[in-house]
Formats: sequence, C-alpha cells, structure tokens
Amino acid sequence: MAEDGAFTFFRESLMAWHFENPRPLPWKETDDPYKIWISEIILQQTRIIQGIPYYERFVKKYPTVCDLAKASEAEVLKDWQGLGYNSRARNLRKAAITVCEDHSGYFPGTYDDLITLSGIGPYTAAAIASFAFGERVPVIDANVIRILCRYLGIEEVPVGRNVRLQMESVLNDAMMGADPAEFNQAIMNFGALQCTPGKPDCAACPLSDTCYAYNTDRVGELPKTRKRKPRRERFFHYLVLKSDEGVMIHHRTKKDIWEGMYDFPLKELESALPLKLKQLNDWAVSLVNTEKYVLSDPVCDTQILTHQKISCVFYPCTVKSLPGSETPLLEKARTEEIFFVANRNLHKFAVPKIIDCYFRVKSILL
Ligand code: SF4
Repeated sequence: MAEDGAFTFFRESLMAWHFENPRPLPWKETDDPYKIWISEIILQQTRIIQGIPYYERFVKKYPTVCDLAKASEAEVLKDWQGLGYNSRARNLRKAAITVCEDHSGYFPGTYDDLITLSGIGPYTAAAIASFAFGERVPVIDANVIRILCRYLGIEEVPVGRNVRLQMESVLNDAMMGADPAEFNQAIMNFGALQCTPGKPDCAACPLSDTCYAYNTDRVGELPKTRKRKPRRERFFHYLVLKSDEGVMIHHRTKKDIWEGMYDFPLKELESALPLKLKQLNDWAVSLVNTEKYVLSDPVCDTQILTHQKISCVFYPCTVKSLPGSETPLLEKARTEEIFFVANRNLHKFAVPKIIDCYFRVKSILL
C-alpha cells in the first residue's frame, strides 16, 4: 500500500464496507467526549457484550465528568466490580478530577492534551480526539494492528515504536479524504467483524485482491505474536471470620492485584497445602480475641488473571458473637485495615470475583 492509488482503493473499499455493515452501539450515537471516554476505557480488555451494561450504569449514575470526580475511589471501584484491571477505574476517577479542576469540566479538545490525562494512552486519545472533535489522528488498537499486519505483510511482532510509526504513517495517508471519525470507526469495525483473529471472512473481503496475507496464504500466521510468559502462581489463604451479623474483611491497600478492593484476612504462602489446626487457632484468636468459634472444612477455589493464577483456600470460621459493627477489632487488626462489616453493609464494598463467588456459594448476601 505504498502508492496513492493503493491508499485510495483501501480507503474506498473500507468505507463502502463500513456503510454496508453498520454496527449500532450505545456510545456510537454521541459526540460527547465524556461518554466516548467512558466507553473506550470500559472496552479495554472487556468484551462489548459485557461492557454495555457497565457503560449504561456508569453514564446514568455519573451523567457528567464532574459527577464522576465527586465520587470516592471506593464507590467507583464498587461500580467497576466484575470488569477487572482496577487501575482503569482509579485512573478514570483521577482524570475526571483533573478535567474538573484544571479544565472547568470541559474535556481537552486535542490529542496532545488528552494524552496527558491519567489512564489515557495513544489509542484512547486518538479515539476521543477523532470521534468527539474530528481531529485527523488514526486509532491503532488490536483490530487495526491485525488488519495492517495481514494486509501489508508486516513480519515483525507489532509491539515496537518503529512498527507503530509505520502504521501511523500508512493510516494517516489512507484516511486522507475521509471523515476521520468515520474512517477510524470503519477500520475498527472491520477488524472486529471481518478480519477477525480466528476466522477472517477472506472470501467475502473487499480487500482480498490486494491483501498480502491472503494472496500468500499467510493469514493464519499474521500478526506474529510474542511467546507468553507463564503465569505467576500465588496461594492465598483466607480466614473467613463470620457471625450471624456479619463478616470480617480486609482492605487491600498495597500496590498489588485488586488494589483498593476488599477480601478477607489473608496469609500468602508458598503452596495451597491447608494450614494446620494450631496455626488456624492462633490466627483466629489473634483477630477476634475469643476462643468461642467453630472452624469448618476448608474450601478451595482458583481465579485466573492475565498474568497470575490465584489459588485460594478459605477457612470458614463461625464466631459466636463479634463485638460492635464495622469497628476495627484489635490494635493489630486496625493497623492491617481489617474490619468487621455487618451483612446489611457488605454491598458497599468492592470485592474480587473469587471473593464474590465465595459469598454467593456461602449465601452471604452482597
Ligand atoms: S483478505 Fe482476509 S486477511 Fe486480508 S484483510 Fe481481508 S479478511 Fe483480513
């Protein structure tokens, strides 16, 4: 695609396909940068079908960027629960505060200013700049990368700066003469619906005559990928101290997975081998300062994250009576941010998926 004619063919074929294959989505009907931003952040690492209800809840609960800025981090994390990659939610709130405090509640209108906001990288800045403000800047997401690697025959793993610059240059030329928002939407939809990762519909593709991968029988080989590192295995042992009134939870404040969310009092160990009774008794007594409790059989579960595998052992421990409600129990517990929470208030706390599953299996209502 090195000549003007080739760019023209690519653009015209793509745009014709786009208008014949509309893809209505709730956020496509707006040019409000706030709503476009929310949708783009939610859809990173999330399937559209899963993201739509989150998007709808978010813009209903926080209709403006300043409504979002006023929410606490805990509240935003609770609304985000189930989407994963919580840094997206924390950055969303940080960027909302910046827009309200430094830009009087108006989104910056250029790619260069948008990219300075927390959690906004080149892709998101290009999406907002083109969809909301019509700036001529190409989006490069996984869909676009896949199309270009196949169509142009890019043989290197598409991660470095040079490949990115090459793609930007091609797209800048290809989008000349088209509406930037429509062109960007077209190429993203084309990747999502036509030039898909697993089974691209090459037989019905308007670009097949000039597609390198199709004409050299290399579609299954491109784009090239890096070998994935094996997942890090971790073993979390949770003491679930529960009474009729509520349960003890632990605030995850350290820089780690699930930062800002809540789980149970935790020991991270080298294996999933269950703790001995004496170890459990010592642990329980250190937290509740009573020996009036009953330990039940441990429950095991596993959660797979992108880079980690978390094996959990839960030790249910029913305490006869826990003093107070939502009050740190002991000095030690207070410093570790371990609290007793009444059942009626549990729904306010954002918890990881594996903790949510435990609550549901054990019928502790959230
Ligand atoms: S011919 Fe196949 S591989 Fe090439 S752009 Fe079309 S769908 Fe993608």
